[in-house]
Amino acid sequence: MKTLAAEAHALLGLELDGAQLEAFEQLAIELTSWNQQRNLTSIIDPPGIRIKHFLDSLSCVLALRATSALLPNLKIVDVGSGAGFPGLPLKIVFPALRMTLVEATRKKCEFLEHVVQLLQLKGVTVLHARAEEIGRAAAHRERYDWAIARAVAPLPALLEYLLPLVRIGGFCLAQKGSTAAAEAQQATAALAVLGGSLMQLLPVELPGVAEPRFLVLVAKQAAAPAKYPRRAGLPAKRPL
Ligand code: SAM
Repeated sequence: MKTLAAEAHALLGLELDGAQLEAFEQLAIELTSWNQQRNLTSIIDPPGIRIKHFLDSLSCVLALRATSALLPNLKIVDVGSGAGFPGLPLKIVFPALRMTLVEATRKKCEFLEHVVQLLQLKGVTVLHARAEEIGRAAAHRERYDWAIARAVAPLPALLEYLLPLVRIGGFCLAQKGSTAAAEAQQATAALAVLGGSLMQLLPVELPGVAEPRFLVLVAKQAAAPAKYPRRAGLPAKRPL
């Protein structure tokens, strides 16, 4: 994990302390061990975990900084968190963040609960739910400063998951690959309908990763109409 510390410093300007590096070490061990039976992620080799899970997750800090939003107690929802990416690495490095991890698959939620307990992370909520359900629930709708997601759905559908969860004045962040610009173009209608405005596509370079990475940053400027998100499955099946 010393390499992670050096890369996080060089690429992102982050200073990881010993306790944080220990937490990343434990997370890597648990991920590898649970993955043997539960198939949580396809990226499981040590450099892959370090770069494509941990460092890639931490790169979200570039977008948070770009909006001067890196306030200590920011309330963030990570939608389709899977084995905890990008939410868990961000929580490890910024412990005061209030982090909700939303995941539709039960076995992944069990892993998330296990890791949250093991690492004694405070202020993390794991929700076994679909984004379409919580986006209509008063306890979650427009309750978050940021909604973030990686590898969950194409942008038009993803925005229907994320934007209803964010307060007006908040932001959505989608971690995307080489299709980022095309997806942003395809999301024009979704943005207009759901009250979002495309702010930036921030390029991210990860060591040894040839495929370009982008942080797609969307500002929430107006309330989403009450009928969104539509029922589970529809945003992906019939994107706006
Ligand atoms: N974000 C993690 C990452 O990058 O490693 C997981 C990515 S995985 C490819 C996509 C995850 O999103 C899956 O675990 C899936 O169960 C979850 N997911 C997909 N659609 C969802 C929805 N509508 N609500 C909640 N979770 C969803």
